[in-house]
Amino acid sequence: MAEHESLEFGKADFVLLDNVSLEEFMANLKLRFEKGRIYTYIGEVVVSVNPYRAMNIYGRDTIEQYKGRELYERPPHLFAIADAAYKAMKRRNKDTCIVISGESGAGKTEASKYIMQYIAAITNPGQRAEVERVKNMLLKSNCVLEAFGNAKTNRNDNSSRFGKYMDINFDFKGDPIGGHINNYLLEKSRVIFQQEGERSFHSFYQMVKGGPESLLRSLHVSKDPTAFNYIKVGGHIKSSIDDGADFKAVADAMKVIGFTADELQTVYKVLATILHLGNLTFGVDGDTTLIENSKVVAVIGDLLATKEENVEKALLYRTVATGRDVIDKQHTAQEASYGRDALAKAMYERMFCWIVGRINDVIEVKNYDAKVHGKNTVIGVLDIYGFEIFQNNSFEQFCINYCNEKLQQLFIQLVLRQEQEEYQREGIPWKHIDFFNNQIIVDLVELQHKGIFSVLDEACMNVGKVTDKVFLQGLNSKYSVVGFIDKNKDTLFQDFKRLLYNSSNPVLKVMWPEGKLRITEVTKRPLTAATLFKNSMIALVENLACKEPYYVRCIKPNDVKSPLLFEHERCRHQVEYLGLLENVRVRRAGFANRQEYPRFLQRYKMISEFTWPNHDLPSEKEAVKKLLQGCGFEQDVAYGKTKVFIRTPRTLFCLEEQRTEMV
Ligand code: ADP
Ligand code: MG
Repeated sequence: MAEHESLEFGKADFVLLDNVSLEEFMANLKLRFEKGRIYTYIGEVVVSVNPYRAMNIYGRDTIEQYKGRELYERPPHLFAIADAAYKAMKRRNKDTCIVISGESGAGKTEASKYIMQYIAAITNPGQRAEVERVKNMLLKSNCVLEAFGNAKTNRNDNSSRFGKYMDINFDFKGDPIGGHINNYLLEKSRVIFQQEGERSFHSFYQMVKGGPESLLRSLHVSKDPTAFNYIKVGGHIKSSIDDGADFKAVADAMKVIGFTADELQTVYKVLATILHLGNLTFGVDGDTTLIENSKVVAVIGDLLATKEENVEKALLYRTVATGRDVIDKQHTAQEASYGRDALAKAMYERMFCWIVGRINDVIEVKNYDAKVHGKNTVIGVLDIYGFEIFQNNSFEQFCINYCNEKLQQLFIQLVLRQEQEEYQREGIPWKHIDFFNNQIIVDLVELQHKGIFSVLDEACMNVGKVTDKVFLQGLNSKYSVVGFIDKNKDTLFQDFKRLLYNSSNPVLKVMWPEGKLRITEVTKRPLTAATLFKNSMIALVENLACKEPYYVRCIKPNDVKSPLLFEHERCRHQVEYLGLLENVRVRRAGFANRQEYPRFLQRYKMISEFTWPNHDLPSEKEAVKKLLQGCGFEQDVAYGKTKVFIRTPRTLFCLEEQRTEMV
């Protein structure tokens, strides 16, 4: 396995360790990191350590070295995994997926981009124009999504604040013909607040710093980010990011993707509206709540293509239906501030989802007739937020960590449990390996009636009486539950939805279809944030489970973005919670490959005199045995009830070679 690599770089596959212990694992990981070998295998899983420096290993020449090769022929690399997923898809007509996991700053998003670049580089040898168009769109979409969905955090200057799953569709030739993006749980609270040292989404700073004078004038936005409360905290942060240049790159990418001038203008108007909303303050005069800086309201009215008084009314009043009557109830100043923030967050989130939707319109597979062209296959790439544990953990961390437990459960099922169960089923001698099964954690969160999400939803249904404290009593968890109830209810007053739906800007209107409903028609309680998230996670996992998975496990070597520092404790912790050692144990005890007897025979019967052109043995199993004995591979295989198991990839490789010589 990967023998071409000299041992001075450590073992290219953790399976080859002399002893499978945490110490040896860590020593190998560290040695390789220090020697600039950032990738190491566990069988077909690639473990990656963020190098925090530019590596000269992603160029055209490297791509050529991996193209069409088998995993074990070349040093470990993301490209090898991408190629394996691609080959499985192309040769065996399988839908595959690449799951990239790791904590914030571990290198997931970079990895997903290299994987996409690789796939783009090795496909469409015929240079078909439509395929080139699709590839270009897929690659361009990254820069747009990062502008609106990424932010500088204390962990990562370009941290994705949303989860992303992208399907790439291929035709029968193996060329990309389209794709689809699913986005998960944008961290919209960032729109109104950031921790010290962090910023809001890049898009705001890009527009403020990079937008042309004429645009900014029309939006009533000054060039100084510290003039806006919502982005003030992060506005004076010096960073390596060139917002001005990025503004242009993103605008160009959006034009290429097909956003119209009106759509682009509306995007800027929404960003500007949010900035202005953040500067609104409320006061009281006797019984009346009022807006202290009414000029800002006029600007917002202008930007949203609606009347100033409509904006004012939506900010200060709430229309409620009592029986058959409809009355306007005035907000307190506090309620009005709450509503303002909710509006800002919701407008941003809606716009983000709308942008994803517009990209999907453009990249979706068109004119593909499976009857004519054969099955359209898929490679999915999942780049989703890793575990987060802060000093204070809130609703977002709860959802994010639940998502990771769910993915870990999938990993356990697919890689660890399935593997062991198959050996048992096939009657292959097998020593059981213990691993921590986190199903109980997943259940704790998502079980009907008893799970935390259910308890939370229940608490949210009891209008009025139930507070975060009451929720906590039923929960007794480690999390700070402050804000759980609010964030889960995720209330946006109907008045705002109607306000935006009734805008005379058609682009804005389509983002708010539910604003069509009149107050008396709104009866159904909307699904809570937790329920929506849970449902989307369940759907995601179901989707992944029916594909052949490939894993990239990213590790963050230190917290100071240093290319030199391998913080042992920090890394050990990640190795442990990712279950990598168990992964090595299962893999080592196991077999690299397995095939059903008829299939195996079909593929290799020409390399043995006992089986070519026909065999006279009592069963296909016996024929396979005879074939493998004849080739001298007896030591490296085991015979199950329906399948032959091959221990090392080398054997498979030899079989492939002999086959190639014969055909
Ligand atoms: P994540 O998505 O896991 O939060 P990113 O992929 O955004 O992390 O990586 C964080 C930063 O680490 C990047 O902005 C980049 O500076 C650095 N980095 C990650 N992977 C690589 C790589 N393969 N080569 C060089 N730098 C990398
Ligand atoms: Mg990321």
